[in-house]
Amino acid sequence: MLSNIRIVLVETSHPGNIGGVARAMKNMGLSQLYLVSPKIFPSSDATARAAGADDLLAKAVVCESLAEAIQDCSVVFGASARSRTISWPEITPRACVQIVQSLRPNTSVAIVFGRENSGLKNHELDVCQYLLRIPCNAAFSSLNLAAAVQVVGYEFFLAFGEQATPSIGDAGVNPLATAEQMESFYAHLRETIADIGFLHPDKSKSIMRRLRRIFNRIHLDTKELDILRGILRFSQNHNK
Ligand code: SAH
Repeated sequence: MLSNIRIVLVETSHPGNIGGVARAMKNMGLSQLYLVSPKIFPSSDATARAAGADDLLAKAVVCESLAEAIQDCSVVFGASARSRTISWPEITPRACVQIVQSLRPNTSVAIVFGRENSGLKNHELDVCQYLLRIPCNAAFSSLNLAAAVQVVGYEFFLAFGEQATPSIGDAGVNPLATAEQMESFYAHLRETIADIGFLHPDKSKSIMRRLRRIFNRIHLDTKELDILRGILRFSQNHNK
């Protein structure tokens, strides 16, 4: 999915920022860079700031108009530091990722970033379906161009990058506890709560439900469950 996401920079003034964007993109697994009428490009400043992401600069596509840069994209987001009074639905980078997750695979997506000094013009936002705004200090809301790309790229990396599938449990070494094992743990926990005099079994219904909620959140593996069962056994024996 990351390879279907295009970063479009409109009329960037400082070539160093283009390099900074390339670096931010490569960090986050993005590779498609489109430049609409950059003031100065190619440039040694851009290469220096890219710090090893110069392969992205080498294959960057330079266009004369925004329309050309996004012509084959189905969904276009326009990034702006400013809220606009008119009709664009305004979303956060996280909501942007959720929209992209809901698209059919291989849909081409563009995220358009504006000029350093004046951002995107309204007629440029007209070709965007959504206005993407990074929430930040209302009194100082304009991020550096590369920093803005970094924040948006990070959200995409979390959703689609190498680490998108978290390994639950002890790095997958121990299998997760089964429902049956969890039920026998809960029975043991309930029994222990009664044994140590914490709560009478008749009164334990609502607290057991809350305890289940805690354990449901964390996906115990068999090793972790063994440790907890050990603690329960110890408490019961200690209490005799
Ligand atoms: N002074 C300009 C901001 C330029 S910053 C203005 O008032 O619009 C350069 C670009 O970085 C912006 O056009 C936008 O695409 C992106 N950017 C900066 N801060 C942002 C923010 N808080 N949310 C979304 N995009 C932002």
